[in-house]
Amino acid sequence: MIPYGKHNICDRDIEFVIEVLKNEFLTQGNRGVQFENKVASYTGAGYAISVNSATAALHAGCVGLGVQPGDLVWTSSNSFVASANAPMYCGAEVDFVDIDLSTRNIDIESLKEKLHKADLTGRLPKVLIPVHFSGLSCDMKQIFQLSRKYGFKILEDASHAIGAEYLDKKVGCCEYSDAAVFSFHPVKIVTTGEGGILLTNSEKLANKARKFRTHGITRSIEELELSSPGNWYYEMQSLGFNYRLNDLAAALGISQLDRLDAFVEQRNVLTRYYNDRLSNLGLSPQIITTEARSSCHLYTILLPQNRDKIFSYMTENGIGVNVHYIPIHKQPYWKKRCQSSLELPNTDEYYSKCMTIPLYPDLNMNDLEKVVTTLEDAVITYVA
Ligand SMILES: *Cc1c(COP(=O)(O)O)cnc(C)c1O
Repeated sequence: MIPYGKHNICDRDIEFVIEVLKNEFLTQGNRGVQFENKVASYTGAGYAISVNSATAALHAGCVGLGVQPGDLVWTSSNSFVASANAPMYCGAEVDFVDIDLSTRNIDIESLKEKLHKADLTGRLPKVLIPVHFSGLSCDMKQIFQLSRKYGFKILEDASHAIGAEYLDKKVGCCEYSDAAVFSFHPVKIVTTGEGGILLTNSEKLANKARKFRTHGITRSIEELELSSPGNWYYEMQSLGFNYRLNDLAAALGISQLDRLDAFVEQRNVLTRYYNDRLSNLGLSPQIITTEARSSCHLYTILLPQNRDKIFSYMTENGIGVNVHYIPIHKQPYWKKRCQSSLELPNTDEYYSKCMTIPLYPDLNMNDLEKVVTTLEDAVITYVA
């Protein structure tokens, strides 16, 4: 089976991890800080806080931005459930904005309309979590302008988007947001096994997130609330979690980052190849906006008919396909918590037609040929 996505591990990655195994510290050594510095300098963000998943990073971001019970957070329903779960961990109410069918990202007109209505009823969101679908940045300049007008904060779910660019800057630099997160799950662009990172230019938010990932504990003299009786002393000042990234994972990340640009370039090459080869099938691939360079995490197509039959045909013929995403608002847990009036026509239409075909740097010419010809057969058979 050709999988839809796959990590790439080289001998040097393995050596980096083995080296940590021989060191004194398996966690809380210096690899975490080195990894953070590397991601910060790559993206241009002022602060990087590594954690053990992007979900934890989203949680830390929500807490850092002051999301509390009674607050409202908006995100995109065409995403992995974690985008909405993180604000829910804080007791917030979550609502969803519709997407644009061609970019698969938050639709700016829908967002404007929803904000206008929310303003009239006095129920504006405290935080918006735009999701950069497949590594294509949302229209952050417009979202930023709206955040100024309506007074909400922005937490970018850039889980797919490390290595991507927007207006010639790296996604994650937080030029148009308060914070951003990347995921290092093995299907994403670079991996640490499990892992994530929160990026921000706010020192206050960074300090809050650092405490939050380690039980709400600080050892920093300047931060202590009580006077320190000795060098052993630490204070737990708020309720945090154990969300730390261990040194084995961080070492793998450090090594992987050296190949990030090559991975993104190869993903772009493969995307252009598919765009070319599939152009006469009318499959509506994601449209990359002119302001952006995508990290090309996923190759998604829209099948006008018989998606489910085509999906089965592909898997029966050894092609790992997927659906990104089952809309969050369709999940049983979320269904009960969404307003009955919630309408996301583009998200629903996208979900009824979408299919993800294999895309990862190691995909070779034979694999590509097999994916393309199998898909051609399926479309000829099942689409009138
Ligand atoms: C993968 C993913 C996450 C969660 O990342 P983890 O590192 O697995 O916690 C969140 N949001 C999106 C859009 C994702 O694709």
